[in-house]
Order: sequence, then structure tokens, then C-alpha cells
Amino acid sequence: MRSWRTHRSVKPPFGSQWTAAVPTRIFDNVSFIGNVIVGCYLVETDAGLVLLDCMEPDDKSRDTIEEGIRELGYDPHDLKAILISHGHFDHFGQAGYFREKYGCKLYLSETDTALAKSKGMAGFGPMSFDIDHYYEDGEVLHFGSTEITVIFTPGHSAGCVSFLLKVYDEGREHTAGMWGGSGILPDSDPEAYRQSLDKFMEICRNRHVDVELAAHPTLDNGLERQELLRKIVDGVPNPFVIGEEGFAYYMDQYYALVR
Ligand SMILES: [Zn+2]
Repeated sequence: MRSWRTHRSVKPPFGSQWTAAVPTRIFDNVSFIGNVIVGCYLVETDAGLVLLDCMEPDDKSRDTIEEGIRELGYDPHDLKAILISHGHFDHFGQAGYFREKYGCKLYLSETDTALAKSKGMAGFGPMSFDIDHYYEDGEVLHFGSTEITVIFTPGHSAGCVSFLLKVYDEGREHTAGMWGGSGILPDSDPEAYRQSLDKFMEICRNRHVDVELAAHPTLDNGLERQELLRKIVDGVPNPFVIGEEGFAYYMDQYYALVR
């Protein structure tokens, strides 16, 4: 049989037309805000809002996140923390702005803070603000009763991390995994990347991860699934709940980069 699926490019199509995505609730406690290339996840906790990543350092990203938070029915003043997966411009872009305006705390690995402060990327300058908290491997961050586990997964960048958290679909509990760095860049470390995949997958199996979240919606048909969610009727399964086997199948696209 001929392979019939579209090949997924793990290199985000930067430079393509900037088109905002519709801010979309995908779980009781998690929503997506972004554009067609990169985005972030807004996590509602009983201690305020937490963002996982925060797009690019341009005005459109700033407005998209700020307006997106309001469109979803939240107040940006409730933003308590931004957890950054790694030190690339398309993941930490708005962190300085939100820290200054709303006083939220910024989280990133020490290794990737040094990386981000050392050089600019894609026409943007180096990171010009400070990070409030450096992660430790396996650290569990608490925001009220919400726990977000941080796993060091070097490879894409040397200080890249991945996240695990509980998500709820109309009260039904699931566990989401968010792989922190998607592609192999010229300065990535493929061997470290493969070892990080093994490490992360073992943890995900033990934690029964059955939901994946991706910062780049090009990797997982994220926007198409969100469109379905905006129209979903009760009784139809949430398309982001893919099961443990589905999660392993999804993660295989990253193994394919380093085989
Ligand atoms: Zn990156």
C-alpha cells in the first residue's frame, strides 16, 4: 500500500503568512492561543493563570495573547507565571512584556536562559529580561492545586524541557505531555535528543499520558482539531484525547528525526 498521509514537517514554516488562530478551549483547564505556526497554552488554576510558552517577540504575538486571554473569558491581570519550554525566540517572545505589565514570574532552564541571552535569532535581538526561576529536572511546580512536572529533555536545545500536567474534559481526568523542542536544528544534539525521547517516553508510560500538546500546531493538526472542538457536541470524544497508544504513535515523529 502506498503511504497516503501528508508528511509532517517539523520545521515550522516561519515567514509564511501570519494568521492568528481562534483562541480555543480544548480542556476544562487548558486553552490554545496562537497563530498557524506557533502558539501557547493557557492553563487555568485556582492560583491564577499559567502560560506554557509565549510566542514571538512581535506586536502581533503580544496582541494575540492579550486579546486571546480576554476572548476566552479571563483577565490578563490574573497571569501568574509563564513556563518557557526552551530558549528560542518563538517560545519566550512575549515573556518580558507580560512580566513587566502583569508581574507574572518567568520560568526557564538556566542553560537556555544563557543561550537566549547570548544571541538573537530570526532578526530578533537576544533575551533582554531576567528569568525568575530556573527549573530542576523532575521538578513539580505547584499553582494552587495544579501540578506541572518539568522534565529536562535536552537535544533540540541544550536546556530544553518538556511538561506533564493533568487536564480535564468535562471533569474527566487525563494526563497531557508537551514535548518541548520539536525539530533538529544545526546546533541541536541528535544523540541527546534521542536519549531525551527515551527518558520522556518512559515517564509518560508510567504516568499514562494520553493527551499531547504541541507549541507548533503544524505538528499535530492542532488547528483542525480545535475547529472541531469549537463545534463539538456532547458525546463526541475530545480529539486531543488520543490514548496512551496514540501518544506513542504521535511521539514517533520525533524519533523519526534521529533514527
Ligand atoms: Zn526551538
